[in-house]
Amino acid sequence: MSFNVAIDGPAGAGKSTIAKAVAAKKGYVYVDTGAMYRAMALYFIRAGFAASDEEKICNSVDDISVVLKYEDGAQHVILNGEDITGLIRTEEVGNMASATSVYGPVRTKLVALQQELAKTTDIIMDGRDIGTVVLPNADVKVYLTASVECRANRRYKELTEKGLDANLEQIAKDIEERDYRDMHRDISPLKQADDAVLVDSSDMTIDEVVDTIVSLCNK
Ligand code: C5P
Repeated sequence: MSFNVAIDGPAGAGKSTIAKAVAAKKGYVYVDTGAMYRAMALYFIRAGFAASDEEKICNSVDDISVVLKYEDGAQHVILNGEDITGLIRTEEVGNMASATSVYGPVRTKLVALQQELAKTTDIIMDGRDIGTVVLPNADVKVYLTASVECRANRRYKELTEKGLDANLEQIAKDIEERDYRDMHRDISPLKQADDAVLVDSSDMTIDEVVDTIVSLCNK
């Protein structure tokens, strides 16, 4: 039996940073499910679809292959044979991923892939529906959140440190919109699983959050 850790929470709560660090400490494989939704979103953007083109999007799901590969512990996302890992971290792709992850066929395809991965491998998987839908029997479940203000500030810092243009107000607005959409969609909305531990990282350091989750895994 593999050991499964589920981390859910809103955009910008630090899920991937934390999950990567826990994975390294515990020897788990880190699975970033948001990257899978982003890969599909990139396909839709390239195809020229609008997020509202439900029929076109749902009909194209069978033409899309998303595969995760690991090189030196780092996750690479392969979209129809092309490594697109470096192309999916933009706001445009993130917003398209949020808007198209509401469609049933998109979710069904990715959830099946995620469940398959978790069957045989010790993993820490992050997303929005991991503890509630993808891995309802996960050994450890965490709901990681932080205030909108705090998440927007972190994102702003991340972008400006990379030398990119950023507008704090716009970032906060995007985060609020994405939270709303992720929490209010019909299928698998973002919510804390009944048996998940709530961790609010607003006033915590990365190390404190990592240690909290590692100790839950060691229990
Ligand atoms: O986590 P990340 O920002 O990369 O996710 C992009 C979008 O993909 C989210 O806003 C969410 O709508 C969607 N997503 C999802 N279920 C997951 C992971 C991500 O619906 N398990």
